[in-house]
Amino acid sequence: MVDLKGQYLKIKKDVDLAIQEVIDTTAFINGKAVQDFASELAAYNGSRFCIPCANGTDALQIVMMALGLKPGDEVISASFTYFATVEAAALLGLETVFIDVDRDTFTLNIEALKKAITPKTKLIVPVHLYGQAANMEEILRIAAAHNIPVLEDNAQGIGGTFTFSNGTRKKTGSMALAGTTSFFPSKNLGCYGDGGAIFTDNEELAVSCRMVASHGQKIRYQHDLIGINSRLDTIQAAVLRVKLQHLDDYCHARRHVADYYDRAFQSNTKITTPYRAAYAHHVFHQYTIILDESVPRESLIEHLKNKGIPTMLYYPIPCHKQKAFENRGRVSGSLTNTDYLTPRVLSLPIHTEMGTDQLEYICNTIMEFVK
Ligand SMILES: *Cc1c(COP(=O)(O)O)cnc(C)c1O
Repeated sequence: MVDLKGQYLKIKKDVDLAIQEVIDTTAFINGKAVQDFASELAAYNGSRFCIPCANGTDALQIVMMALGLKPGDEVISASFTYFATVEAAALLGLETVFIDVDRDTFTLNIEALKKAITPKTKLIVPVHLYGQAANMEEILRIAAAHNIPVLEDNAQGIGGTFTFSNGTRKKTGSMALAGTTSFFPSKNLGCYGDGGAIFTDNEELAVSCRMVASHGQKIRYQHDLIGINSRLDTIQAAVLRVKLQHLDDYCHARRHVADYYDRAFQSNTKITTPYRAAYAHHVFHQYTIILDESVPRESLIEHLKNKGIPTMLYYPIPCHKQKAFENRGRVSGSLTNTDYLTPRVLSLPIHTEMGTDQLEYICNTIMEFVK
């Protein structure tokens, strides 16, 4: 699904040097590269503040804690997402309210969102799934009307943009009160271990997030609240500083792969290629097709596997049907699209190092099965 080795070899000199520099200074925790990277990423994302942390799941939890959400407060999000998005809320005793996504964009359905809001709603978490922005203009409008903060889960969307109807273009993760991302190795901006970050323009929230991520302390050994310990390692920050310089090229390479797939499947009526919303610059963290119900997905997966082609199901079980949520959270409205998509989606290999010959082989192998 990814070729991290091939990607590394192209930037090996810079990465090796950056890592060696950290080792030479032995500033493994909160070394200079961490702050340098945070400033550079904030600038890249058009956000005033960037708070690095240990991973993308922590980033979500830190924001929820910094916002002072209390058990019983309701958090609206999609069921059609990675488990981490809603796990953080459940861990804090918050009530997850699952709503449906759109069939085309795979992101929060606006009508479902309107209907899910109650006086207990304290947060809305849109996910820029697969690398395409949710409909932030509508989401922010609805949230503002109810005075509810919005947190963008941008773990899959970093590098993407959203263009508002007045022409303003913003980076994903920079539009709402807060945004979070993950530097898991296979993410669009991945490090060589775990890492994550929070974005915000709000100084008060930035200060709170920093405190929460650092044992509730602003001044060393002075703990004003109960926090957690969540840091980005200096070595990871050093790697990320190098890779941030290539992020736009990486996104471009992914889009190139997506264009190729789009063209190859254009005439196949049994394959629906990813919809590209006019407002979004899609960065294709995943290239996810929707198969016609006449296509036996398991057999296709098996056929591809036999030909050496990996595929993935993102995600095989929607969050509201996970055992962990058996006695937690609630569903608002019907999740018709979630239930429609779950057995039909299939994610194909997409990464920064794919060649035309690989793409041709994958497409031909799929086309000989899906006729
Ligand atoms: C990867 C991911 C996360 C979690 O990131 P980690 O760094 O693995 O904790 C959260 N939300 C979404 C949508 C993700 O894809």
